[in-house]
Amino acid sequence: MPIQEAKLIWKNGELIPWAEATTHVLSHALLYGTCAFEGLRAYKTPHKGTCIFRLQDHTRRLFYSARIYGIGIDYTEEEVNEACKRTVRENGLESAYLRVNAYLGYGEMSPSATGCPDDFVIAAFPWGRYLGEEAIEEGIDAVVSSWRRTAQGTIPAGAKVAGNYLSSRLITTEAKNRGVVEGIGLSHDGTVSEGGGENLFIIKDGRVLTPPLAASILGGITRDTAMTFLKQMDVEITEQAIPRELLYGADEIFMTGTAAEVTPVRAIDGLEVGTGDKPITKEVQKRFFGLFDGTTEDEWGWLEPVEG
Ligand code: PMP
Repeated sequence: MPIQEAKLIWKNGELIPWAEATTHVLSHALLYGTCAFEGLRAYKTPHKGTCIFRLQDHTRRLFYSARIYGIGIDYTEEEVNEACKRTVRENGLESAYLRVNAYLGYGEMSPSATGCPDDFVIAAFPWGRYLGEEAIEEGIDAVVSSWRRTAQGTIPAGAKVAGNYLSSRLITTEAKNRGVVEGIGLSHDGTVSEGGGENLFIIKDGRVLTPPLAASILGGITRDTAMTFLKQMDVEITEQAIPRELLYGADEIFMTGTAAEVTPVRAIDGLEVGTGDKPITKEVQKRFFGLFDGTTEDEWGWLEPVEG
């Protein structure tokens, strides 16, 4: 799906025309993957106008990821939040996907370079359903990937950095080549990790299981949102290592992510998940999408209006 261009991109402190937001071909981030980033969504709501979802949490995670790789950010979290809102506003977008990159720019070779500039960009543009229009209702078909996620002590899965997405590329490309939309990666030890760009929830006998942070997952903000709703619903939720075979015996499975939102899994490796009834998944979806149509009260202050 081609990127739907907007007008302006925020780069190093100012909004510049979309086409001028370029970077040198020898930028460190391009050579070595050193780009900490966030993907966020702005939703059009009837009660609070256009709002960025959990903006402060995304910005906090961006600073965490950047810190791990020695990528400097020349702004405060507050300034980044304001710049994100301004980028949506000044592009006149009612809803959008935002991509925020803090990356090492052009100036020095070698993975350990310390002399590259700290560049920072924010783009916002329209983006529909990541896993397809019917995915939210019907669910997606997935396969367990032949590729393992990065092992503990190799490349940290908990930092959201461009280089990590080599793993996601292998997993999702393999899935597409096998005729489905998404792949599920296993950890180095063979337990369940996460999708190419989504966290996983497995429901069995009314209990919910999700892999822990140490299972080479990104600590997803939508994952945290779903866990908050599950607690509200008084559903028992356990973060634990999940053997692969549980995927085949689950009553329901759903995936979460900013792009994927809350998406049910219909079948894994050709086996349908449960009976197709998904009461818990549907309730989580109802509460999640309810945030944006006003039917779920935002008691956490997760909706950040771009105006004002
Ligand atoms: N895992 C991976 C590998 C991801 O890329 C994403 C999406 N950014 C997620 C999980 C979900 O994270 P979030 O809910 O914060 O978007």
